[in-house]
Amino acid sequence: MARTKIVATIGPSSNNPETIRRMLAAGMTVARINFSHGDHESHTKTVQMLREVAQSEGKVLALLGDLQGPKIRLGHVKAGGIQLQLGEEIVLTPHRGQPAMIHLPHPDLIEAVQPGARLVIGDGEVEFTVAEKKDDTLRCMTTVAGLLESRKGVNAPGTDLPVSSLTDKDREDFELICQLELDYVALSFVRTAADIHELHAIMDEKGVQIPIIAKIEKSEAIEHLEEIRDAADGMMVARGDLGIEVQPQEVPLLQKRIIRACNDVGKPVITATQMLQSMVEHPRPTRAEASDVANAILDGTDAVMLSNETASGRFPVEAVLMMKQISEITETAFPYDIWRSRRQAVVTRVASVTEAISAASCSVAEHVQAKAIVSTTMSGHTARQVARHRPPTAVMAVSPLPSTQRRLALVWGVDCVLVPNFTETDEMLEQTAAAMRQFGLKPGDRLVITAGVPFAQMGQTNLIQVHEIT
Ligand code: PGA
Ligand code: MN
Repeated sequence: MARTKIVATIGPSSNNPETIRRMLAAGMTVARINFSHGDHESHTKTVQMLREVAQSEGKVLALLGDLQGPKIRLGHVKAGGIQLQLGEEIVLTPHRGQPAMIHLPHPDLIEAVQPGARLVIGDGEVEFTVAEKKDDTLRCMTTVAGLLESRKGVNAPGTDLPVSSLTDKDREDFELICQLELDYVALSFVRTAADIHELHAIMDEKGVQIPIIAKIEKSEAIEHLEEIRDAADGMMVARGDLGIEVQPQEVPLLQKRIIRACNDVGKPVITATQMLQSMVEHPRPTRAEASDVANAILDGTDAVMLSNETASGRFPVEAVLMMKQISEITETAFPYDIWRSRRQAVVTRVASVTEAISAASCSVAEHVQAKAIVSTTMSGHTARQVARHRPPTAVMAVSPLPSTQRRLALVWGVDCVLVPNFTETDEMLEQTAAAMRQFGLKPGDRLVITAGVPFAQMGQTNLIQVHEIT
């Protein structure tokens, strides 16, 4: 069984019960609802369908709502597009219906860019340099020639936009995410921790708590990486927009930095975009893509993500299966030694009791050759603190909360079992051992169990026990 988790984006290619059933069987653990497409009615139906299929298949599936954020797009360009030559001048205007000008319906962007700024269109098919600002228009030089088409994305690398990363549309979409009680919300184009605080403030008003995945896809976010990580509950290496905002050649090392930042504190990190891109059209990936998935796993990612491959591609099930198989093979050579020495390095630092117990449980489990480390957990925090060390021992969580079980479907290596709520330590140990029996443990097998007592108080994990199956 793969320890790396798989996030699959739901779209026209996968939005039906039979494909979802097969994607679950192939190894999907998290379904991503992309709010850049579709409407509230279709998202509501999709979520109902996903839950029904997961339940009837007896699978745990976390649901991630991904907010579009302030994605900037061109307005309407004449049918067939405009072929631009190198050095050709164009004028961008915030007003529609101006012949001889190109419509960019974002006055705040036009306001923010300065002469000399770069504007990258689409995936870099066309590029402009701003030559001059005149009234509310921009005179630009074409620096990368190509076909300019309607509604293409616009990135202004290095330009800081003075707008919230939560648009009015995002606020409405977040309303639906709350109503549907999705397990995670992803926030696009995060720049600083203030963007996370803004979403937290909305949650406080509503009295809801949904873990936030900060999508790292702006260079400003890289400058504020640690503060964003500390404010958020996890991060996504959003390589699509990140590769436009910085140069593609910078993405590999940034990916390693973002993953490391999350590993260091035990927050889940997703590596996203173009992982198996060629499987949109083909039943097999390129060798470079297979290597990319493997390398993200070796970097320490919690999850690998599929976008177009499962949303609009021809082989959604095959793409999930391919990811699972790459994970299983790569994990046979997982560099557990590296994580073991990192863990040994951190034990000299002052840590919370939960962190200390979690790190110790990894050591104890190896010493006594335990079959699993089992964390009893309400929020999932303890299980994440164990998984953060990437121990070779299996990591199990035991929780009375289905929402915790689902959220852990994003966390590397953790399998969560539901149990009734417990009040006594003995009862907890008995139930935990009983829950583990379904995994084929034999008499004499050992478990390293951690818990927080007394149970009534949610909080610190302060107990560690080596339990022998009798
Ligand atoms: P998106 O985010 O697919 O919502 O743009 C991921 C990315 O930019 O890589
Ligand atoms: Mn993006």
